[in-house]
Amino acid sequence: MNLLEVQDLKVHFPVQLDWRGRPTAVVRAVDGVSLTVRSGETVGLVGESGCGKSTLGRAIVRLESLTAGSIRFEGHDLASLDAAELRAARRGLQMIFQDPYGSLDPRWTIREIVEEPMLLHGLGGDRDSRRRRVTQLLAQVGLDPAAADRYPHEFSGGQRQRIGIARALAVEPHLIVCDEVVSALDVSVQAQVVNLLASLQKEMGLAYLFIAHDLAVVEHLSHRIVVMYLGRIVEEGTSAQVCRSPVHPYTRALLSAVPSPDPGASREARVRLAGDVPSPLNPPAGCPFHPRCPMAQARCRTEVPELRPMLDGRRVACLLAEE
Ligand code: SF4
Repeated sequence: MNLLEVQDLKVHFPVQLDWRGRPTAVVRAVDGVSLTVRSGETVGLVGESGCGKSTLGRAIVRLESLTAGSIRFEGHDLASLDAAELRAARRGLQMIFQDPYGSLDPRWTIREIVEEPMLLHGLGGDRDSRRRRVTQLLAQVGLDPAAADRYPHEFSGGQRQRIGIARALAVEPHLIVCDEVVSALDVSVQAQVVNLLASLQKEMGLAYLFIAHDLAVVEHLSHRIVVMYLGRIVEEGTSAQVCRSPVHPYTRALLSAVPSPDPGASREARVRLAGDVPSPLNPPAGCPFHPRCPMAQARCRTEVPELRPMLDGRRVACLLAEE
């Protein structure tokens, strides 16, 4: 069953206004994205910094206004709900952020931080029941329950991320949007947090939209992977399809950046990625990837590739995908 259905979502930011207050320049951060997340599934969302993946995650939990498109979560159209209805619907849809320190109020104890969402949603019963629930949640994410009376600055980055996970779990969500949650952590701590998320998924049937720029981390956790470039999806498929036999040159380039533990093993022909992501304020004509694409042809400068289904079920936006 689809928990989340995003249809043709656009998030545009006007950055220049004329004298009448009308936009004359627009950043198309997310430009027509459709995706689904099923119950108990992890969908990885990858791309370089500036590709729009974090804006998409924030738009899904309604921290950004939508320019167009729809978001259905557990059957509710999130765009059409009033504030009270949205708060109720959002109980099942939580988000964890890259910077756990920035997202935890430094003046609050860990108990207050984890308890707050329960109070907001009227959950957890009386004060004693909520205290017991906080103790249980901290144990569930691998923290000493004695941590409840301490403050965020007393914890390491990995521990703070565990506190963020405990806070998200406090309202028993069905889907958690994880925005670059391990990017700022050491590799060994990254693995611990990823393993924690995987075991919580098994235990509680959680679904994740796992946003990251590192395809190796995403591959480990995801059932399906969506690759974004300049606000659009360029490839989507199962984890094995995207990571073992990528079709889009951009996906192949992202994979080329992942170090292989076996130097003799060939994932795919290596594609080197030159330059940075172009500005979404002034994206290239035709295929937006053409200035960096080693396979670009003349028609790539004028024709915009649609995201098309391939015979193996994946979707790819490249003019040469079937050739
Ligand atoms: Fe490269 Fe052309 Fe495919 Fe775009 S459409 S990814 S430029 S080959």
